[in-house]
Amino acid sequence: MRRIISLILWIVIIGTLAHFLATHEGTTQIDWLGWRLTARTSLLIAAAFIIIWLVLILDRMLSFLAGIPRALTRGFSRRHQRLGQRALALGMVAVAAGEGRAALKYARKSVHHLGHDVLTDLLMAQATSLSGDREAARRYFDALKKNADTAHFGHIGNMRLALEAGDEDSALLAGRAAMKLKPRTPSIADALFVLEAKHGAWDEAEIAFRIARQGDSDISAPHTHAHAEASILLERARQATAPRLKQKFLTRAIQADANFLPAILEQAEFFLAEQKTRKATALMERGFISAPHPRLAEKLLAHWSGTPAKKLARLIKLTEQGGNQKEALFASARVALEQGLWGEATRLAELIPMEARDTRIWQLLAELAEQNPDKTGTGASADSAMILRQNFNAPRAPNWLCASCQQVSDDYHAICPHCGTFAQISWK
Ligand SMILES: [Zn+2]
Repeated sequence: MRRIISLILWIVIIGTLAHFLATHEGTTQIDWLGWRLTARTSLLIAAAFIIIWLVLILDRMLSFLAGIPRALTRGFSRRHQRLGQRALALGMVAVAAGEGRAALKYARKSVHHLGHDVLTDLLMAQATSLSGDREAARRYFDALKKNADTAHFGHIGNMRLALEAGDEDSALLAGRAAMKLKPRTPSIADALFVLEAKHGAWDEAEIAFRIARQGDSDISAPHTHAHAEASILLERARQATAPRLKQKFLTRAIQADANFLPAILEQAEFFLAEQKTRKATALMERGFISAPHPRLAEKLLAHWSGTPAKKLARLIKLTEQGGNQKEALFASARVALEQGLWGEATRLAELIPMEARDTRIWQLLAELAEQNPDKTGTGASADSAMILRQNFNAPRAPNWLCASCQQVSDDYHAICPHCGTFAQISWK
């Protein structure tokens, strides 16, 4: 439209000019440096037009020539862009396939063609960490940290690298930095909560644990969430200095996992220290049914009222309520033996399946056989010599054992003091 208007305008101007020239016949005389030029005015105007036209053409040509290098550069940069994008795409495919070396090759190519930007740096970081060059990977993750959009991932990358290298202090710092930027990142929360726990920062560990659980990520696979939560709360209780706070955490630990023996033991001891005997025995009775332990039996017998025979009857009742678990049967049998009730003691001890009888149980059976040789002839407890032979091959007595490193600890610890794994110790 604009072209048509300008064309019409030109036609009108030229037409008017031609009409003017045709109607204004005349000559023009120019004096210049002693030269005198006389020509027809119409010719002069036409010449002026031709000169202007030539200048315009020359200008077009010059600007075209001047534009050639830029056009060439543009072509080159388009080529770079194309090759760079291709290397970037292939590099990402290689990363997805876990091909570290190929990824690194394409990553370098992409940097060569596209220079350093978020994408090329990210690919470089992934490729270098995949190919095992931790130092280079760390450099690229550090570069990602400088950009607000990618800083979070830079920290996560550094955390993973540090974990791979076994540097848990650096991993913790990087993880905390990542969490600070984006507090709801379940994917790193479960790694972070164990790091916090190992660091002894149990309140931080609990926060990270809750985030991890919200994300429904897989926390320390063989253990239930309840057990993990109870372990964290037990350690928080141990760290707390104020008695009220200690008790609050222990209560919460037992709420999280009603059968969590370490918390039951500590809470009971706490109640006993505060002269809350009824509360303590009620808790220990519940504990003895679900998670029998020698210390629970010992404390119950010490704090129950009534005659020894009545106490034994109560213990046997709890043992039956708990489905005759080994530790409960052993504790009851021991008490029966102490009270001279060999028959009852033998009956209880022999309820423990053969394969579950450890050294303590065989020793008890041997003791019973010696005390009352006529009565003990049933089951596997023929005579004390045979019992002692069995004892030789029997499994060891239960202890606080780590399922990860098989080492024994003096007490329950949420973090194994030998191998540092989380919530792997149990009374076994
Ligand atoms: Zn361990």
